[in-house]
Amino acid sequence: MITLRDSVSLLPLVGSVYAKRLEKLEISTIEDLLYHFPFRYDDFSLISSVVQVQPGETVTVTGEVLQIENNYTKNGKKIQKASISDKSGKIEAVWFNQPFLTRTIKNGEIYNFSGKCDWFGREKMLVSPEYEKISQAETIHTGRLVPVYPETYGVSSKWLRSRIKAGLQIFDQQIEEFLPENIIQEEKLILEKQALRQIHFPKNQIESEQAKNRLAFDELFLLQLAALKRKAQWQKQSLAKNFSLDKQKMDEFVKKLPFKLTGAQERCVSEVLRDLTAKIPMNRLLEGDVGSGKTIVAGIASYLAFLNGFTTLYMAPTEILAYQHFQTFQKIIEPFGPKVKLITSNYKDKKDSPADIIIGTHSLLYQKFDSQKIGLVVIDEQHRFGVEQRALLTQKGNFPHFLTMTATPIPRTIALVLFSDLDLSVIDEMPLGRIPIKTWVVPKEKRNAGYDWIKTQVKNTPNQAFIICPLIEESESLKDVKAVTQEFAFLSKDIFPDLKLGLLHGRIKSAEKEKILKDFKEGKIDILVSTPVVEVGIDIQNATIMVIEAAERFGLAQLHQLRGRIGRGDQASYCLLFSESQEPKVLQRLKIMEITRSGMKLAEEDLKLRGPGEIYGFKQHGFFNLKIASFNDLGLIQKTKKAAEKQLSLPAQTNLPLKKRLEKYKIGSV
Ligand code: ADP
Ligand code: MG
Repeated sequence: MITLRDSVSLLPLVGSVYAKRLEKLEISTIEDLLYHFPFRYDDFSLISSVVQVQPGETVTVTGEVLQIENNYTKNGKKIQKASISDKSGKIEAVWFNQPFLTRTIKNGEIYNFSGKCDWFGREKMLVSPEYEKISQAETIHTGRLVPVYPETYGVSSKWLRSRIKAGLQIFDQQIEEFLPENIIQEEKLILEKQALRQIHFPKNQIESEQAKNRLAFDELFLLQLAALKRKAQWQKQSLAKNFSLDKQKMDEFVKKLPFKLTGAQERCVSEVLRDLTAKIPMNRLLEGDVGSGKTIVAGIASYLAFLNGFTTLYMAPTEILAYQHFQTFQKIIEPFGPKVKLITSNYKDKKDSPADIIIGTHSLLYQKFDSQKIGLVVIDEQHRFGVEQRALLTQKGNFPHFLTMTATPIPRTIALVLFSDLDLSVIDEMPLGRIPIKTWVVPKEKRNAGYDWIKTQVKNTPNQAFIICPLIEESESLKDVKAVTQEFAFLSKDIFPDLKLGLLHGRIKSAEKEKILKDFKEGKIDILVSTPVVEVGIDIQNATIMVIEAAERFGLAQLHQLRGRIGRGDQASYCLLFSESQEPKVLQRLKIMEITRSGMKLAEEDLKLRGPGEIYGFKQHGFFNLKIASFNDLGLIQKTKKAAEKQLSLPAQTNLPLKKRLEKYKIGSV
């Protein structure tokens, strides 16, 4: 028997060619196809006789095709014209450049035609109507609310409709209700099976709304239930030995740091220390704008681990960052006793000497450690790592404490849904003495003035600049490398011929990358042209200017992260957002950057304006793409949270469909 979890290629009329195409839509099983939801509906529900059709209306007529033929327009383009008749009279339909229609639409047969009626010269005509042969009991392309789907090459909404319809018919019996009866009752929800039918083929708006309500409820409920389960699981762990706090030594250490902690850092440190001395391992997310000083909070935690005889693993997303942390820790922590060590693919410790704080990149994942000794695991820029990688690193220890850090502000509603299993600490204050970065949106006509200004700032001064080119594709591709390389050539030759420029992108080998950044840090390069790979926190004191090309292609929070690369010293710094866009709306959105300095505010703005996918700039983390619910819907988030809490508090029962559904959310494994 074929099941919902089988490959979509097994559905009649799909096959391997379509299955391959569907991968682009992240559809691999039959179930995935049924959960591929429309993003809007064409309203073809107005039915009319042909004589009553009015120009300007979107209508459906049913009639016999008297004649269909290919014609040529004056400028040689092919158009298709059909003459349609019903009892009331005749009307013409026209299509553009679809010569195959004369083969698919047959003279003498009866069809539905749905579309807009317009004047065409002096005649009223149906312009590019959808057509559908009248044979089935229920039409799906015409004469009703018709679903329009996210499409991909070779996969049209029309095709999707027909396959989803077939899928719903064949697999109706296999769609098992997973929501407990009492929730369905209390929340006045429709059954899932019914919701699936109604989301694809609603009879009216009410039906589509009912379906959306049910499916949005499911999505938020499952995510939160999964998070609650993770939390419960985590709290079942208990430490063999909890850390004890040597207050005197800790105070001494903090007092001797090269700077005084900000109030926010102090608060976060005390939250972390409280967790570290408890019986249950810490599971905390430390959030703070770029440059807010998260590293030292982790440093203090690893010092406490050391005092208790435990080793810390500290994973950073790039070699450059790992190296920077390594240097920092060597300088400020090693004098107090802990041995610090670096492990990346390029720096391998040959002697394999023991260490108390081990800093590294992904390479850490492939190393063997004495799990009994690993007491603390720190992950920097956590959103750069996948769920599995994070889990893998914690497994290096025996229930170690876990601290993840991110510069990505996570709006409250998102934290509630996705991270409610984590405890949250926020550094919401910048170290003293930072001068806010001045930001300007530079429209097309001011571009050259912008370049001239950069020249005056950089030439014969220690000041340096970043020029960031956006990615063309979602993850850095060869195309992107080519684009940034071209831009680099152009800037070096035509704009800044007497300055020293450097080029950085993701395809450059790490050793070379390292060298370029070192040169930049040492002032041997004036301007570094780069893709957003420099997004992650490197410290370049003299970098005072950041140019972001095609700034409109970034989310605001991501622009904010990028500009956080500058303003690390004590000089004034400037961020120039270049945009070729002439659209007032686009420029207005960018202008928010000129006045807002809080990463959290910008993330919330992104969420309002563009949806959650944009917050992280890249959509690499599937779970941020809610399919149907919205992170802006605080009401539903709270409602589903309550329902999830209640569900979890019930005595363990076996609701197999629910269990299966949670697995589908792939987040049971953290
Ligand atoms: P991020 O939060 O982006 O990881 P870092 O931890 O890299 O920030 O800190 C950025 C810079 O600020 C570092 O050079 C660090 O030494 C410095 N710094 C951190 N905390 C303070 C503070 N309280 N006062 C002054 N400088 C600080
Ligand atoms: Mg950092």
